[in-house]
Amino acid sequence: MFDVIVLGGGAAGFYGAIHIAERNPKLKIAILERGKEVLTKVKVSGGGRCNVAHAEFDPKEITKNYPRGERELVGPFHTYCSGDTMAFFEKRGIQLNIEGDGRMFPATNSSQTIIDCFLQETERLGIKVLKNSSIVGITSLNEKKENGDYAWAIKTIRNTYQAKKILVATGSNPKIWELLRQMGHTIVAPVPSLFTFNIQDERITGIQGVSTNASIKIIPSKVNNGKFKAALKKYSIQTSDLESEGPLLITHWGMSGPGILRLSAWGARILNDLNYKFSIKVNWLPAYHEEGLLRQLQQIKEVEGKKTILRTKAFDLPKRLWGSLVKAAQISDTDKWADISKIQLQNLAKQLTGSKFRVDGKSTFKEEFVTAGGVDLKEINFKTYESKILPGLYFAGEVINVDAITGGFNFQNAWTGAYIAAQAIAKP
Ligand SMILES: Cc1cc2nc3c(=O)[nH]c(=O)nc-3n(C[C@H](O)[C@H](O)[C@H](O)COP(=O)(O)OP(=O)(O)OC[C@H]3O[C@@H](n4cnc5c(N)ncnc54)[C@H](O)[C@@H]3O)c2cc1C
Repeated sequence: MFDVIVLGGGAAGFYGAIHIAERNPKLKIAILERGKEVLTKVKVSGGGRCNVAHAEFDPKEITKNYPRGERELVGPFHTYCSGDTMAFFEKRGIQLNIEGDGRMFPATNSSQTIIDCFLQETERLGIKVLKNSSIVGITSLNEKKENGDYAWAIKTIRNTYQAKKILVATGSNPKIWELLRQMGHTIVAPVPSLFTFNIQDERITGIQGVSTNASIKIIPSKVNNGKFKAALKKYSIQTSDLESEGPLLITHWGMSGPGILRLSAWGARILNDLNYKFSIKVNWLPAYHEEGLLRQLQQIKEVEGKKTILRTKAFDLPKRLWGSLVKAAQISDTDKWADISKIQLQNLAKQLTGSKFRVDGKSTFKEEFVTAGGVDLKEINFKTYESKILPGLYFAGEVINVDAITGGFNFQNAWTGAYIAAQAIAKP
């Protein structure tokens, strides 16, 4: 019998348990984890470095990184945000370094630092960590009025435990979602988020590793225009949500990088509906529109007439990409500016500002991925993270229908939810 049982020994579960114990050291707390190890996602996170948070300290601004949860998280981030996460780790002797793009990592560049911190804290605070304890049943004893204060029975493959309050932090686990559904919660169907785009196209073949800043837009492919429009309506997505500007990385399989990952997150549901077959339009020179660029190219043609186009460093673009786009505009390796026709010049302007690519499928982004979907946000009180349907049951982390773009925001959702739930749970 425990005062509090935390379901799931991941990021949110540990952070929650530690804060419950800190707030109320008298409570008897257990974490139930199905695996033989805890914190396995933390271990592999950020390519093994653990991108623990993001240096965005404005509660309203940070919510813009959450395709699901943007509105609901404003209040919680006013209570607990990235600065609080930094303070938590710093208080425990872990320095977090901020990289140029705002991502925060432990100075050791090792996720094990975060894991060690959590394990030491649970030990210090007397929290029981029960591994190999896959949860197979959650029963509310309140309804049956069987057992006084002990409102919950949690059945694992080995034992049944009782608790006064429970914190569900089981991440994207379909079995737990099914149990919650049976208990009256609505579960928004899970779909993957944060993935890279599979593209087979001559223009990007052989130039993998090239990275540049680009603006990218998801557009319907020729065959699924109707389906695309219907999906936009179904999920209340604006076409502007399906546009992004940021680093784009060409890979062996297609395209990746923050610009693409951002689109995969905002488009997670609609792209799933389209079976990951759609098109994108890439502007490799986001400062230009097609017409303005054409005028610029005409000027270059007049001034640099004798120069070979391929060898001209006309724009801030990686050489190999420039070569590939020049070729796609039907311009040969030896053509000089003075030699090319108006049509070739127009082709080049089109390629540079609006290259269309057909996407056929997705690949996993190894450094971070996440699932969109989970417990419907309407059924959670965001002042406490308590279920509105099952009093005494609290949520934190990926189990709820919140997910973010890459950059440390997914962990911040886990830390913030766990902290707020912990304060409510630990209150006498
Ligand atoms: C490869 C990878 C890299 C990532 N890198 C980053 C990153 O750098 N930065 C970032 O912000 N986000 C990152 N993420 C996302 C981040 O890891 C998650 O958003 C975060 O871990 C969610 O925390 P959670 O506690 O809700 O879920 P989890 O961390 O998944 O923890 C849930 C725990 O519950 C346990 N569990 C599930 N079902 C049961 C059951 N039936 N019984 C008992 N236990 C159960 C699981 O085994 C697990 O230990 C990454 C994700 C992946 C997959």
